[in-house]
Amino acid sequence: MRAEILAVGTELLMGQIANTNAQYLSQRLAEIGVGVYHHTVVGDNFDRATAALQTAKDRGANVVILTGGLGPTEDDLTREAVASFVGRSLRTSDEIVEYIRSFYTYRGLEMPENNKQQAMVIEGAAVLHNPRGTAPGMYLEHDGLHLFLLPGPPTEMRPMYEEQVQTILKRLQGANEVVFASRFLRLFGIGESAMEERIADIIRTQSNPTVAPYASEGEVKIRLTASAASEQEAQALIVPIEKSIRDRIGPYIYGIDDESLEVKVGQLLRAQGQTLAAAESCTGGLIGKMITDLSGCSDFFYGSLVTYHNSVKRSVLGVEEAVLSAHGAVSAECAVQMADGARQAAGTDWAISVTGIAGPGGGTDEKPVGLVYIAVAGPDGTTVNQHRWKHGDRTQIRLRAAKTALHSLIQ
Ligand code: ATP
Ligand code: MG
Repeated sequence: MRAEILAVGTELLMGQIANTNAQYLSQRLAEIGVGVYHHTVVGDNFDRATAALQTAKDRGANVVILTGGLGPTEDDLTREAVASFVGRSLRTSDEIVEYIRSFYTYRGLEMPENNKQQAMVIEGAAVLHNPRGTAPGMYLEHDGLHLFLLPGPPTEMRPMYEEQVQTILKRLQGANEVVFASRFLRLFGIGESAMEERIADIIRTQSNPTVAPYASEGEVKIRLTASAASEQEAQALIVPIEKSIRDRIGPYIYGIDDESLEVKVGQLLRAQGQTLAAAESCTGGLIGKMITDLSGCSDFFYGSLVTYHNSVKRSVLGVEEAVLSAHGAVSAECAVQMADGARQAAGTDWAISVTGIAGPGGGTDEKPVGLVYIAVAGPDGTTVNQHRWKHGDRTQIRLRAAKTALHSLIQ
């Protein structure tokens, strides 16, 4: 299959938002082995939207996923552009009008009249339901080209892809009697180029499964995608290649597929019936955020104490004045007392602490921006490590610090 992604929205061209929908869809399509050949962005413009569809068709696409422009306002013209492109009319679906009305009624509001525009369906198109918003999506086939219309907001678009579009795409693949299976290996503590160097020959010579590395937010992932006549056979093709990769860089692989660092931390602690707390300075609650993104984490996570100012490190965590004046807040000694203090205050088996200089200001020759101490307090004592990140802005340093702290719990 040859897929293309067409994002509609002037705000994308103006640089007001990034085209994360294309990134997301490309990742998901790669997982099921659908090749994406082009990303296109057009503004909210009827002629350019139809021209972009024609271009996609002319260069051999058989799947185009469109996002954006399905809303109720004047500038939302994706459904009109697609209808015109396939030469079909639009009709109002009473069922969708009622659905949208119920959305407003639930919130105690009257439905604005222009919302009826969202209930316009292209003749012969299947409706893709949008339980998180008012604009439904659509799926239609025209002359061998499969078109999916999805709303722009990622919170609506993503679940619609996962719950509806993917099923249709897999069915289309089934018609070709090829099934794809993918596996992600998740690595931490190794850079993308160092990793690629070690498995360059595998990446180069493998065609089934294909081996593709990705760097994402301080982590590296390797995707293995195999195709075969059945899911089982495709999975079996992945096994030996995964093994050769593990033989080379196994110690850096901490999880697979959706097992993020925080998921992995949760699995380990739950398995041992143990609990965790955190004390955060420069990460400002990021660790707490990452863990509490997991629903049900109260099984093992008691909380994160955000202790930014020295006075709170003293009063909440019991960090000694002597430590602060002799070594400063960004020191191994302070990190240790923060972790010990959090473990004691929360009454948990484990506690992690982070203190560092995220920049851009506040660095000195002795303590430069990017200097971070991470301590882990556990049943057998407390350990501390120094990290020095030379590059990266405040956001990156904080994210790296939070991830490194989580990773230090699973080593
Ligand atoms: P709505 O009913 O909300 O108007 P829509 O389908 O008309 O939905 P747009 O108006 O094009 O979608 O975009 C709505 C919002 O969705 C944008 O302001 C933006 O926040 C987000 N969005 C749109 N396209 C993208 C994209 N390609 N990547 C990421 N976010 C996007
Ligand atoms: Mg809109």
